[in-house]
Amino acid sequence: MSLLVVGSVAFDAIETPFGKTDKIVGGAASYIALASSYFTQNVNLVAVVGDDFPNDFIAHLNVHGVNTDGLQVKKGEKSFFWSGKYHTDMNSRDTITTELNVLGDFDPIIPDAYQNCDYLMLGNLTPKVQQTVIERLTKRPKLIVMDTMNFWMEIAMDDLRKTISMVDVLTINDEEARQLSGEYSLVKAAAKIQEMGPKYLIIKKGENGALLFHGKQIFFAPALPLEEVFDPTGAGDTFAGGFIGYLAKTNDISFDNMKNAIIYGSAMASFCVERFGTERIVNLNNDELKNRISEFKHLVKFDL
Ligand code: AMP
Repeated sequence: MSLLVVGSVAFDAIETPFGKTDKIVGGAASYIALASSYFTQNVNLVAVVGDDFPNDFIAHLNVHGVNTDGLQVKKGEKSFFWSGKYHTDMNSRDTITTELNVLGDFDPIIPDAYQNCDYLMLGNLTPKVQQTVIERLTKRPKLIVMDTMNFWMEIAMDDLRKTISMVDVLTINDEEARQLSGEYSLVKAAAKIQEMGPKYLIIKKGENGALLFHGKQIFFAPALPLEEVFDPTGAGDTFAGGFIGYLAKTNDISFDNMKNAIIYGSAMASFCVERFGTERIVNLNNDELKNRISEFKHLVKFDL
């Protein structure tokens, strides 16, 4: 099934307790497109970069089967830039810089060939732009999944609420769920957020796994305990890419299949954190993915 991915494609500078990078390629849609490409070969990207963005990364996306006809390259302008620094436990980070640059006035043009997509993944981006994408699709996709972050809650809450009301699945982290709902209990937060529109809510808890809420049903998936956690940047986006990629591959949006999709998303995210940026997820092979999935199975399997 065809998947439309929208989100930031960017430069990041990252500092973790294990090291520091100069500007490297990042952005929500970069991680999502790469991760989802391991499940479906029908990934279409809508995003914007400046002419400072490396062509070889775009070529990499193409090698992964990602269609980049909808990636706008703005002459004489700079790509979105984000920098962040992780605390010692790596579960929390501070944003040091957010330079919107080309994202500031991004007009998401959807190529005709991208219309009629079955799945839409709205990666982290200006909420108004996410909304415009939904409005510009001539046919509502079978499933719309949206990610966002506290940055937008702080500067664009009204737009964000409007966009949230238009989607089927929202993915946010625990801190953001609390901020959005004003509730400390994640169960209460989930109930309130579902009242805002999305019938499914995924709350990501970093190394503590992820929760899927749908009405009164709750599913929990752990994160794989790893020897090496080098850089958590993009883990949430990689998770989202694995999640929606698996749904697009299986074309089954039941709650039970979403549980499987969460395990695939978690497996993809477990690779992402092992190196800086997108380094680890650009060249995965099928065996590695298969082995991770079976590690997940063993991790949570027990007989009572
Ligand atoms: P994650 O670690 O999954 O939260 O995602 C990190 C990625 O999100 C980085 O590669 C950033 O380039 C991107 N990012 C950070 N802030 C924003 C923002 N305000 N809008 C869009 N993308 C962002």
